[in-house]
Amino acid sequence: MRRKLAAGNWKMNGTLADLAQIEALKAAHPDPSVDLLLCPPATLIHAAAGLVRDHALRIGGQDCHTQAAGAHTGDISAAQLADAGAQAVILGHSERREDHEEDSETVRAKARAAHEAGLMAVICVGESLAQREALNTLDIIGGQLSASVPDTATGENLVIAYEPIWAIGTGRIPTPDQIGEVHDFIRARLERRFGAGAGRSARLLYGGSVKPDNAATVFAVSNVDGALVGGASLTADEFSPIIKALE
Ligand code: PEP
Repeated sequence: MRRKLAAGNWKMNGTLADLAQIEALKAAHPDPSVDLLLCPPATLIHAAAGLVRDHALRIGGQDCHTQAAGAHTGDISAAQLADAGAQAVILGHSERREDHEEDSETVRAKARAAHEAGLMAVICVGESLAQREALNTLDIIGGQLSASVPDTATGENLVIAYEPIWAIGTGRIPTPDQIGEVHDFIRARLERRFGAGAGRSARLLYGGSVKPDNAATVFAVSNVDGALVGGASLTADEFSPIIKALE
């Protein structure tokens, strides 16, 4: 039985004042029955981790380097994220694949580095609208999946987030059938590669315009183990009803 996971991605949003949202989330969910992960910008990770020492909420990063240390100005290693208190890291988000030209091979190297540092890797995959309209969705997802997931993956340290690019921050969301088709496909691919153990235990999140009013519909879809939430994770007022829909 996989434990549900609600993950928030603050992207390049948030300053110290926004740590109040973490206090509010803790107060709204003193003893959550699902796993909670919040990925604030790197500048807030250490402070955020300090706030959740007495709570099940976990803190994660939004990217890491492929190397553990070295001459890479401006980058952050997985070991540094772990040192700051992170327990997970989002990798291969479509904004990084696009803004930083990250390919799936780079994502796989980052995920391996994350696993070596003891972090859970939340690896994002997703198709563009043009790829969906050309009926290439499953080919794209299959390719990203096999190239982005390293052999170091286990049921505990791997989470896959299916995030159709056209649904991120747009208010557009796939139908339950469309989400189910992709999630069933990802599950089958993971089982084929990693066997019944890790293949069945890795969690699959849906991400892209999840809001309080559509969360229950998304969570009812087969092989959806939770959500990766962007905009609606910025405030406890919006994130909390999504968490409740998963509980
Ligand atoms: C995301 O960027 O991971 C995301 C899902 O964003 P939003 O929920 O805002 O669409």
